[in-house]
Amino acid sequence: MKSLYDLNYEQMQNMALEHGWKAFRGHQIFQWLYRSRVSEIDEMSNLSKETREVLKEEFEMNPLTLIRKQVSHDGTTKFLFQTKDGSLLESVMMIFDYGRSVCVSSQVGCNMGCAFCASGLTKKKRNLTSGEMCAQVVYVQKELDQRNERLSHIVVMGTGEPFDNYDEVMNFLSTVNHDRGLGIGSRHITISTCGVVNRIYDFSNEHTQYNLAISLHAPNDELRSQLMPINKAYPLDELMKALDYYSKENNRRLTFEYILLKGVNDQPIHAKQLSKLLKNRNAYVNLIPYNNVDEKQFKSVSYQEAMVFYDYLMKNNVRCTIRKEHGNDIDAACGQLRIKEMRKGQ
Ligand code: SAH
Repeated sequence: MKSLYDLNYEQMQNMALEHGWKAFRGHQIFQWLYRSRVSEIDEMSNLSKETREVLKEEFEMNPLTLIRKQVSHDGTTKFLFQTKDGSLLESVMMIFDYGRSVCVSSQVGCNMGCAFCASGLTKKKRNLTSGEMCAQVVYVQKELDQRNERLSHIVVMGTGEPFDNYDEVMNFLSTVNHDRGLGIGSRHITISTCGVVNRIYDFSNEHTQYNLAISLHAPNDELRSQLMPINKAYPLDELMKALDYYSKENNRRLTFEYILLKGVNDQPIHAKQLSKLLKNRNAYVNLIPYNNVDEKQFKSVSYQEAMVFYDYLMKNNVRCTIRKEHGNDIDAACGQLRIKEMRKGQ
């Protein structure tokens, strides 16, 4: 059964029209979901009982149930949800100086198979629907409502590859971005991809103002193919060509994510290759401390080692930052809570 959260603003209005109601009914339902953030269709008090009954017959309200919640000493909160078909997924709320951000999962499991990542430990079971992604955001906002706080940012960086679930992710973002609902600004929304090149072209042509982040993690094809199988399908020159197209079409800065893995991609030669790769590009590198994953051998560099890499890039005119760790006391690394919960059930 579809959820009401599956419909974006226009689809909600069309749904109303298809039922012989005024488009304005769709507008009202949308506001109940994203402004009043009600939990039940019966709480939509300006709809007639008859209308509510029709909605209840055709749509479910909340597609997710909270299974577990963990709060870190720094306020980072991790939510483990279950879908109607029993799948588990995670969302993380993080507190920054500039606001509150939620990290949303886009798939159940992931097929990209990155060597260092916990999400890929279980293969993709299915794509999440747009409604299941909206419900993650609304749930977190409802928690924040209790403290009179507002979610200001969304990152699609949880489990899954958003560009392997392109249409649902774009639908989801159009809903949470809509100014009649949560109104999260386009420039406060970031999609992170491992480099699905054909979708980078599609995304470039949409001309949204969402930020694009690329998980790079290696500055040459040999190493990148070892760490990220997607690189065999779309090697670096194809990826960079697509990103240049994105930059030309959208005139936006690109963010590159680069996990520093001790002894793997953190050597001076890598810093040199990386600065050469990004030279003359409107790029920004986010150096990420690796969150240890029990099942993986990789280790993070120390802060001092990260600084050496950082200094080299900065001296070579590549802008970068070292990302601060959040919630490392609560298994906040991508997909870890989910994996632990699944193991318990075995
Ligand atoms: N599939 C998308 C989005 C999900 S992963 C992508 O690849 O971008 C979000 C980011 O977290 C990616 O940059 C990913 O490489 C990184 N990541 C995965 N495992 C990690 C770990 N254990 N520690 C730190 N970052 C990790």
